[in-house]
Amino acid sequence: MAHIRKAVGFVIRTIDFGESDRIVTVFSREAGKLSLLAKGARKTESRFGAALDLLTLSELVYYHREGLKLVSQADIVEAYSKLKGDYEHLVTGLRCARWINRLLEDDHAEERAFILFHHLLDALTQEEGSVILYELAFKLKLLAGLGLDPTLDRCAVCERIPKQSWFSMEKGGILCERCHDGNHAGEFPIDPGTARGLYMALRLPFHKLKRLKISEEIAAASERLIDQFTAHHLRPLPTARRPLRRE
Ligand SMILES: [Zn+2]
Repeated sequence: MAHIRKAVGFVIRTIDFGESDRIVTVFSREAGKLSLLAKGARKTESRFGAALDLLTLSELVYYHREGLKLVSQADIVEAYSKLKGDYEHLVTGLRCARWINRLLEDDHAEERAFILFHHLLDALTQEEGSVILYELAFKLKLLAGLGLDPTLDRCAVCERIPKQSWFSMEKGGILCERCHDGNHAGEFPIDPGTARGLYMALRLPFHKLKRLKISEEIAAASERLIDQFTAHHLRPLPTARRPLRRE
């Protein structure tokens, strides 16, 4: 008899498959990232309805067969309709979902990351206006959970609080005037205000991010920095699995 499992999770990716099926990546609380085959999901009268739409939180029943996981039932827990009605917020949610897909392994529960993503979507649903800081904060918090966050509040080498700082991809954070190497191509000056802003984005809960006064330009530059930093530290992909760190 097929082993039947249940999971509650967010749909973070969908790919059309065959004539009428869909492969759905779900980020679940119970089992982490799951790749599921939903047969007939693209038919107009699919039994899954909107439960397998992107960024929907659904309760899923699935079973294993011939190396695949097949969805047998999907029910919406939270549709996030308001979030999906705002293009900027929707895109932010989808970009963060792509990060989950990129950074986390399949079939490995990451409850803290699940809660973080849940908080992010709730915040994106409740907040009006610019959301660039939410994406930045989410990425930093997810990296922190994986033990990959950059050191931003002190020198990554000597732990002094620098007056002037440089960012080093290799050393994993900011460097003070003593520790930075003027000839190193991988180190570049970073405005202390930007470093502080990044640190606060990492520390503050989503609902308090509005307090953070950093311009959209600085937030966008910070995000590019975090993207580069992540690419640098994920190449080659870590072989040893590090569990989410507790604060
Ligand atoms: Zn130093």
